[in-house]
Amino acid sequence: MKVKKTERKSVVKSVGGGRMFDQCDWSGCTVKAGPSHFIHGKAYCPQHYHPALEKHFLEEFKAWDGKERPGRKFLNLFARYTEDLYFCRNQDIPGGLSKGRINDRIFDIKKTKFCVDFSIERHPYAWKNPLKMKEVRQDWRFNVKRKQLRLLREIVLWSPPKDGIEDDLEEYWDDFNGSL
Ligand SMILES: [Zn+2]
Repeated sequence: MKVKKTERKSVVKSVGGGRMFDQCDWSGCTVKAGPSHFIHGKAYCPQHYHPALEKHFLEEFKAWDGKERPGRKFLNLFARYTEDLYFCRNQDIPGGLSKGRINDRIFDIKKTKFCVDFSIERHPYAWKNPLKMKEVRQDWRFNVKRKQLRLLREIVLWSPPKDGIEDDLEEYWDDFNGSL
């Protein structure tokens, strides 16, 4: 089959196990794609990576009927797009969210006209101070039009009892040391 010249340029070639950089898939762009700027089989230059991510995400957002949990592709694009939005603004993504956390751990994902609502369980202080560790459920909203993540509410699912936790821990360490 004869491949047209315009189609040929978007074929990613593999040479000696490595991946040769493709030309940017953005319409009219002739720049080479960046090394980590692949979006679901398409390659983009650094300048077009973010607009392309937004375009791909918006397409998935439109295509999702909101009735069922969105698929892996939506989650992947949602996670990458939101993290990259804040990265482009030179800001931290709010609430310590991250691409990985959004991609792997969000649940109860709902769609409203211009928003994606979702929940995530968090364990603040888990590593910094076990005495203060608690378990919370956070409900977040991403407004697709305003391009903003907002924490709607935080519900404490579990927190250490106000007194007694230190005694419990002391007892635990006594038992632990005793068992050595
Ligand atoms: Zn480009």
